[in-house]
Amino acid sequence: MRPQVLTIAGSDSGGGAGIQADLKTFQELGVFGTSVLTAVTAQNTRGVHGVEAVSPELVTQQLDAIGSDFTIAACKTGMLFDAARIEVVADGVRRHTFNRLVVDPVMIAKGGASLLQDSAVQALKTSLLPLATVVTPNVPEAEVLTGMTIRTFEDRIKAAEQMLAYGVRAVILKGGHLDGATADDLVMTASETFLLSAPRIQTSDTHGTGCTFSAALTAELAKGHSILEATVTAKRFIQCAITHGLDIGAGHGPTNHWA
Ligand code: PLP
Repeated sequence: MRPQVLTIAGSDSGGGAGIQADLKTFQELGVFGTSVLTAVTAQNTRGVHGVEAVSPELVTQQLDAIGSDFTIAACKTGMLFDAARIEVVADGVRRHTFNRLVVDPVMIAKGGASLLQDSAVQALKTSLLPLATVVTPNVPEAEVLTGMTIRTFEDRIKAAEQMLAYGVRAVILKGGHLDGATADDLVMTASETFLLSAPRIQTSDTHGTGCTFSAALTAELAKGHSILEATVTAKRFIQCAITHGLDIGAGHGPTNHWA
C-alpha cells in the first residue's frame, strides 16, 4: 500500500510553497498526501499580500479527521502562524501518535513577510521540537532558534548541538543562505555528523525550496528510509527542482517539482 503522509502548513495561493508545494512533492515521490491547513495566504511570485489564520478549533478538527481515519507514516509541519496553533498541533501530534515528524521552522517568507509571530518561537522550542524526528532550519531560522550568530563552520556545529538539546532526534541545518560555491547542509544526530554538499545554483526562482525539501524528506521517511538516506534523496530532489526552477510570474518563480 502507498504510505500515507500529512502536511500541517499554510496555503500559498501562488502554488509554489506551503501546502501546495508539499502535496505536489508527495505526489512526485509516490506517497499519498493529506493536509491540515493552519493559515491561508494571499500570495503570488511577488510576495505575500494577506494572511488569515484558521481557528485553533478547526485545526484540531482537521487533525482529528486525519488521525481517526488514516495511518500516517510520516508528517511535517510548515507555517504554523502563532503559539496557539503550535499548541493545538503539538497536542494533535501527541494524541494521534504521528511518528516521524519533520518540523520545518518556517518564520519569514523570502519577500520578508512574517509567517510566524515572534512570541511563538518559545512554543516551537518547548512544545513541538521535543516531538520532532528532524528539524530543518535555514541559517536565519537557526539563529532565531538558538540566539546565536552563525557564520563559521564551528558556529554551525554549536548551533546544531544546541538544537539537538531541545529534544529532536536530528538537525538538518541548511546552508543555502550562506555564501560560497556550494550549498552545504549539516546533518547531526546524537551519534553522527555529516556535511552534504552540492554546487550552488544561480537563480532567483527559488520560491518554496524549504517546503519542498522538508516534504521530500517526509515522503522518504514514510517509505521507511533512515534519516540520512531520506536527507540524501531530499537534497537530490531539491537540487533538481532548483536547477529546473520555473520562470513563472513577475517575482520569484517556483522550484519545479516535475523536473
Ligand atoms: N508561504 C507559505 C504558506 C509557506 O509555508 C512558505 C514557506 O515555508 C512561504 C510562503 C515562503 O516561501 P519562500 O520563502 O520559499 O518564498
